[in-house]
Amino acid sequence: MGFKWSLNPYMGCVHRCTFCYVRAFEKRSDRPSDDRYGTSIRVKTNVADVLRRELARPTWQHEQVTVGAATDPYQPVEGKFKLTRACLEVFRDVANPFGIITRGPMIVRDIDVLVEASRRADVSVTFSIPTLDDEVWKRTEPSTAHPRQRLKAVTALVDAGVKASVGMAPILPGISDRPEQLREVVRAAREAGATGIWANLLFLRPGTREHFLEHLAEDWPEQLPLYERLYASRRAYLGAEERNPLRDQVGALAREYGIRDRRKLKLAPPAEPEQLSLGF
Ligand code: SF4
Repeated sequence: MGFKWSLNPYMGCVHRCTFCYVRAFEKRSDRPSDDRYGTSIRVKTNVADVLRRELARPTWQHEQVTVGAATDPYQPVEGKFKLTRACLEVFRDVANPFGIITRGPMIVRDIDVLVEASRRADVSVTFSIPTLDDEVWKRTEPSTAHPRQRLKAVTALVDAGVKASVGMAPILPGISDRPEQLREVVRAAREAGATGIWANLLFLRPGTREHFLEHLAEDWPEQLPLYERLYASRRAYLGAEERNPLRDQVGALAREYGIRDRRKLKLAPPAEPEQLSLGF
C-alpha cells in the first residue's frame, strides 16, 4: 500500500463486501476469509492510549497515518466504543497528520474533532464509493450504508472545511465499469462537493479471490468467463492495459465536471515558520 503507517481500531468488518481485500489478510493470518468474515469484530479497547504513548516518543517524526486501511473505522460498534473518535482526538492533540478511508457516514459525528485537527495538521477523508448502481451496491456491499448517504457525508465534511474526496474502488469489470455508471458517480461526487476523485480496478488476492468468485457465480454467472480470463493463472492485479483506460475515463470525467478543491472554508495548519539563514 502507498503509505508507511496505518491504524485500525477494529479488525474484521461487518460491512462484509464481497470484494474486500482484507479477506486476503485474514487468510494469511489463519483466520476465516469466507462468509464468517465480519460476523465478529475484534475491538482494540486501549488503542487510543497506546497511540498517545507511541506518538509521544521522541523519535516519532509526525508522519502521516492512514486510519482504516484494514477495516472500516466506522463500524456500527464505533457508536458504542468511540475508539476511532478517541484516536482522532489524539492526532488532534499532537497535531499529527492523518487520512481516513471509510464507507461509514457515522463519521459526521466526529466533524468537530476533524475540524480542530484540520486547523493543526494535514487531514483528509476518502469515501469509498465504487458505484451508485443499486443492484451492484446491494449485491457487493451488502451491509454498508447507501452510497448516497456517503455522498451526504462528503458534503457535510466539505461544508465544515474538511478535505473529503471520493475513491471509486473497486470498479468491477463488466459490472460497474460502463461509461454511464462511471459518469453517474463522478457527477454525484461533484454535486456533493468532493475535493478530488480517483478510481481503481478490483484486485483478487488469495482469500478474496475464492469468496468473490463464489458470489460472482451466484449473482452474475454470465461474467465468470470474463473474470477467468482477466484474472487467469491466479493473477491478482490487472495490468496497465486494463487500468489505464479506466483511469483515463475517470480523469476525463473529473475534468469535465471540474472536480477540485472548491471548499469555501479551507481548513489548514499554519504555514511552517521560515528558516532564517544567518550568513557568517
Ligand atoms: S467496508 Fe472496507 S474493510 Fe469493510 S468489508 Fe468493505 S471493503 Fe472490507
